[in-house]
Amino acid sequence: MRIGIVGAGIGGLVAAAGLEADGHRVTVYERREEPAAVGAGLTLFANAFAALDAVGLGETVRAVSSDAVGRLSSGQRRPSGRWLLSLPPSDTPSIRSLFRSDLHRALLDRLGPGVVRAEAGAEVTRDGRPVLEVDGHEERHDLVIAADGLRSRARARWGLDRGLRAAGYTAWRGVTASRGHLADEAGETWGAGVRFGIVPLPDDRVYWFATRSTRPVAAGRREADADPRTAVLEQVGTWHAPIRELVEATPADVVLRHDIEDLAALPRSFVRHRGVLLGDAAHAMTPDLGQGAGQAIEDAATLTILLRGAGLADLDAVLRRYDAIRRPRARALWRASHLAGHVAQASGPVSVPMRDLALRAVPAALFSRAVTRGSAWHPPRR
Ligand SMILES: Cc1cc2nc3c(=O)[nH]c(=O)nc-3n(C[C@H](O)[C@H](O)[C@H](O)COP(=O)(O)OP(=O)(O)OC[C@H]3O[C@@H](n4cnc5c(N)ncnc54)[C@H](O)[C@@H]3O)c2cc1C
Repeated sequence: MRIGIVGAGIGGLVAAAGLEADGHRVTVYERREEPAAVGAGLTLFANAFAALDAVGLGETVRAVSSDAVGRLSSGQRRPSGRWLLSLPPSDTPSIRSLFRSDLHRALLDRLGPGVVRAEAGAEVTRDGRPVLEVDGHEERHDLVIAADGLRSRARARWGLDRGLRAAGYTAWRGVTASRGHLADEAGETWGAGVRFGIVPLPDDRVYWFATRSTRPVAAGRREADADPRTAVLEQVGTWHAPIRELVEATPADVVLRHDIEDLAALPRSFVRHRGVLLGDAAHAMTPDLGQGAGQAIEDAATLTILLRGAGLADLDAVLRRYDAIRRPRARALWRASHLAGHVAQASGPVSVPMRDLALRAVPAALFSRAVTRGSAWHPPRR
């Protein structure tokens, strides 16, 4: 089939690589000049790798990622460093970390020349015909995949948009400049409306993130965006080692800040005629479970597998199946992520001790089993 994909993010590129390997004629339209990733680090769970394996990309992504994060002690800590939930190192970690830019490069390398067209914003038709308007020209396909992210224009044009909502917190992300063993332990530290996360990357550098609730904590404060490290250190500078060292080891100009949003409600369908939503365009979720990209990858693998051996006459049935398989799974994680963010960002004098007490009551083995269950993925039967 001739397949047009809008957006060269993680979802669009995994779909493109899987579909091209299966013999489809794929074009990816990316409005940015450089289809490389913006962003810092990323973690992917076992479900993402099961999906990547199913479309022949698992080894490509393993080669640029590391399982060091799962081989360290991790869990949740208080700002003092005392563990609320301590997870022992695992010999068979179900999580890997990587640089977003490495992932993008690795996926781009798997595509044939000319498959990705940069600086090519593409507009879908309102009725979901598989036609894209690119630079004032119409380009025809058999299927259009809209992988155009959180603010998807395709979702809006297909009448499937139900709005975005603010998650109520802002997030900073950074990567330390130097190699070194600043992080002997991974995981998150939870304060009142503030969190800090530590993730070792493949080359011994460290990806960290910090969050701060926007309403209760920021009221009346000036945003210190001039130097984002100062803003982060204002929140976590006195927390346990090596938090301050990690922030100070990060050049200010690589620190990113985003106010976190997710979809207010998921589209009633991921499909509009011969157009299909994929990744954040379909189900943008908060990053609290680290599953946004994982779900985009599951979408891409599911669609690729369902299209194997299908002809044009089967396309409507394939898209119905995709919708039926993907919507419940994505909805469950979208809901759980939002809830997890709400709990983790607790900032009140009662809610913080209650949250911490609840976390301390969770047996580590039960927590690990829940993560393992949540990060299982099986290819769809065709
Ligand atoms: C702070 C933070 C931390 C996160 N951490 C993790 C994590 O650890 N693990 C994880 O799994 N997920 C994580 N996520 C979520 C993850 O980043 C996203 O779910 C994922 O990147 C979505 O990929 P996508 O391909 O669907 O969309 P995007 O990455 O948004 O890609 C969309 C692409 O479409 C292009 N585009 C848009 N409109 C058009 C158009 N009209 N024409 C052409 N091109 C267009 C854009 O330029 C862009 O390149 C995190 C998110 C945030 C905000």
